[in-house]
Amino acid sequence: MNAILITIVIVLIVVIVNMSVLTFRKGNNEKQPYEKKFYSLGTIMTLTVYGKKGEKAVEEAEKKIMSIDDEMSVFKDYSQVSRINRNAGGKLLPVSEETYFVIKKAIQFCRMSKGAFDITIRPIVGLWGIGSDHQRVPRQSEIDDKLKFVNYKDVLLDEKNNSVGLKYKNQEIDLGGIAKGYAADQVKNIFLNKHIKSALINLGGNVFAMGKKLNGQPFKIGIQNPLSERGDFVGIISVMNKSVVTSGNYERYFKADGKRFQHIIDPRTGYPSESKIISATIISDLSIDGDGLSTGVYILGINKALNLIQSLNGIEAIFITEDKKISVTSGIKDNFQLCNEEFILEE
Ligand code: ADP
Ligand code: MG
Repeated sequence: MNAILITIVIVLIVVIVNMSVLTFRKGNNEKQPYEKKFYSLGTIMTLTVYGKKGEKAVEEAEKKIMSIDDEMSVFKDYSQVSRINRNAGGKLLPVSEETYFVIKKAIQFCRMSKGAFDITIRPIVGLWGIGSDHQRVPRQSEIDDKLKFVNYKDVLLDEKNNSVGLKYKNQEIDLGGIAKGYAADQVKNIFLNKHIKSALINLGGNVFAMGKKLNGQPFKIGIQNPLSERGDFVGIISVMNKSVVTSGNYERYFKADGKRFQHIIDPRTGYPSESKIISATIISDLSIDGDGLSTGVYILGINKALNLIQSLNGIEAIFITEDKKISVTSGIKDNFQLCNEEFILEE
């Protein structure tokens, strides 16, 4: 009888010790973020999740991003965007709710920026091929030829049937200036559903800072020096549950005849934007807003850009111009910490 009791006690002790070891390990894991890098939507993505169930959540997020790429990429023949483009001038095509939503949202930013952001820019983007293996400076006549097809007002939307079309043959849309923002919002929603409280979603410079860092502090996001290497910052902002999106001239560009040609095209000229803004950062609740706006205001130039962002509720911006001046909107002024003295913060 005694022997049985002693055995039970020993077994219990072993179980309790093991459980506490397991709990200790789990506790440790919660402090170790789960991080994954992968390639999608034309860029490198890094998802960093703090807390339990990180791996599962990241797996689901990666699948979601890949499916957005499959639906919205102009580089995949089978994507819905490619089908819309091939069908230009013809009947409207039914698309997924997601593709419809992104196109509809994109059109709002086209309007808001008075056509500086214009998703029908694709024929011109294709001509320059910036970032591809066939990038080149096109002849003026080629640009004139393609510019005729650029007009976001020719995107036809049928809300009832989730269908999209283009009015004229040879017109093409490109969601490259907005899809990453949409993807970041979707990743955030997946993480929320998985009860993740803290994560950094970085889709090639499209950042969403979810919650706080483990030490209770907000995330610090560096604003890249557009005139320098990656990882050299002009300033830092602290954010919680915010999207921080930058459109810059430093990621995708090529040089020819001593000139630098970057990938954001001014739809008025068909040439890379020469607005003097070399970096436009938008801070917002939704990343789709940040992405759509950052590309548009980059082209608008500093005065119009500041006016547009100041007129929008809950959206802030940081602009850097080629003369190394930094302008920030009123709501982010106290938050922005300059950390490079070569740059001047405008009052
Ligand atoms: P990144 O892709 O570097 O994050 P953006 O969000 O600013 O930068 O998007 C740039 C992409 O948007 C280009 O590569 C091109 O596909 C597309 N694009 C270029 N010019 C325009 C424009 N005026 N309006 C809408 N999309 C554009
Ligand atoms: Mg953008």
